[in-house]
Amino acid sequence: MSVSALVQTPYRGRFAPSPTGLLHAGSLVAALASWLDARAHDGTWLVRIEDHDLGRCIPGAGDQILAQLACLGLLPDEPPVWQSKRGALYQQALDRLVGSHWTYPCACSRREIQQVLEAQGSGHARNAELVYPGTCRTGIPADLAARPQRAWRLRSSADLAGQRPLLLDWTDRRLGPQSQDLTHAVGDFVLRRADGLWAYQLAVVVDDAAQGITHVVRGEDLADNTPRQIRLQQLLGLPTPSYLHTPLVLGPNGEKLSKQNGAEPLDLGQPLAAFKAAAHALGLDLQATTLGDARAQACAMWAGSPISGMMPA
Ligand SMILES: [Zn+2]
Repeated sequence: MSVSALVQTPYRGRFAPSPTGLLHAGSLVAALASWLDARAHDGTWLVRIEDHDLGRCIPGAGDQILAQLACLGLLPDEPPVWQSKRGALYQQALDRLVGSHWTYPCACSRREIQQVLEAQGSGHARNAELVYPGTCRTGIPADLAARPQRAWRLRSSADLAGQRPLLLDWTDRRLGPQSQDLTHAVGDFVLRRADGLWAYQLAVVVDDAAQGITHVVRGEDLADNTPRQIRLQQLLGLPTPSYLHTPLVLGPNGEKLSKQNGAEPLDLGQPLAAFKAAAHALGLDLQATTLGDARAQACAMWAGSPISGMMPA
């Protein structure tokens, strides 16, 4: 261990599932990677249930996910945190951003945003994230002023006046140097929706900081969110954790294995097989015949895996 590693803040990592369904083979890979990385760093491993969007959550699924993890011996070192109970913290963060003028209220509907973009000749594919055209950036237009509901958006430019684009660079432990032009690729993004729902970006940034997370290990499908989260950390004066995005598990159709495309919940009648399959997806081929040995072998092998980014390539 290097001298600089000795003086660093103690490692704190997390697995943060949304209880919109049970763990499946793909989400277990992300859970296992974050657990292994915490163990390999002699760190603390936390579980956060991301249930702030209660409308999308399945009642009881959060507890069932915790039970699935426990069945595999993946036990958090502190009591799990539930996002649905943390709205006051998200509101405090939003209030700070409102006070510093980095956010503004927006009364546009999704359809209106789409229409403006189409009129500009920059319409997007259906269901893709829309780059906000800036309709409400300097104040809500008179024809929208009567609408009671407002979303809150964050200015995606480098300056409050919106003159300079914001280019964000960061380094992912597996993917290497990354960069994104936040202004043009994402645009002014929503922190709280008009219906009061907190955006994933704000909740994650507030919770990672409140829980002292130093290392984020999660699936590669979330890599694209990283610049938005780094920007929020900058504006809220919060530290930026280290990021590692793990490879996605693909289903037989070549698509990412996910609840949305029908991934089956884990079969925990066979916990050893489920654990070994997840380890295999992380490049770790375990010979163990018991779950305890499988955990120990995986821990011993993780630091040497190219996916962990702990060894120089
Ligand atoms: Zn608007």
